[in-house]
Amino acid sequence: MSKRQIRLFLIIGIVYYAIIDVNFGQTQNEQPEVLSLNPGEPKKMKRTDSEWKRILSSAEYHILREKGTERAFTGEYDGHFEEGVYVCAGCGHDLFNSDTKYRSGCGWPAFYEAMPEAIDKNEDNSFGMKRIEIICSKCDGHLGHVFNDGPQPTGIRYCINSVSMDFKPTKEPETK
Ligand code: FE
Repeated sequence: MSKRQIRLFLIIGIVYYAIIDVNFGQTQNEQPEVLSLNPGEPKKMKRTDSEWKRILSSAEYHILREKGTERAFTGEYDGHFEEGVYVCAGCGHDLFNSDTKYRSGCGWPAFYEAMPEAIDKNEDNSFGMKRIEIICSKCDGHLGHVFNDGPQPTGIRYCINSVSMDFKPTKEPETK
C-alpha cells in the first residue's frame, strides 16, 4: 500500500468518526436519558437543570423542580371532574385516575389513590412541619403531599398541585 493510499484511508477514517460523533451528540440532545438501575424497576428520566428550564414553563419549573406550591383554590384542576387520567406535567407519566379524585375542600386537587408505581414518597420537614412529599416516580418532579385524612376506601388524601399535572380525557373533545 502506497503512502498516498494510507493517507487517504486515514482521512476517510477521521471524517467517518467525525460524522458518527456529531450524530451521537444530536441524539443525546433530543432524547432524555432514561436509566433503569435494576431490571423490573420503573425507568427514571434524567434531565439536566438547564433542560428542565427550557422544557417547562416558569410555574412548572418552580413547582416540579424547586418544590413550590401553587396558591390554594387557584389551580386549573381543583374543581375539575372530567373522566380521564392526570399525568405528570414534567414527563407524561400516568399519576392519578379521575375515578379517585374527590372534593376535599382543601384548595388543591385531591385523590384518595395513586395509579400503580406512579409516585414515590419523601420525608419533608420544611416550614416547621412534618409532611410526606409526593414525587413522580419517573422524573422525581415534586407533585404535592400526602395526608391520612382522606375518604374510604384508603383514608388517604393526595394533595397535588394542578401545575404539576396535565389531564388526558378519556373521550376526545368533539371537533366540528
Ligand atoms: Fe414526571
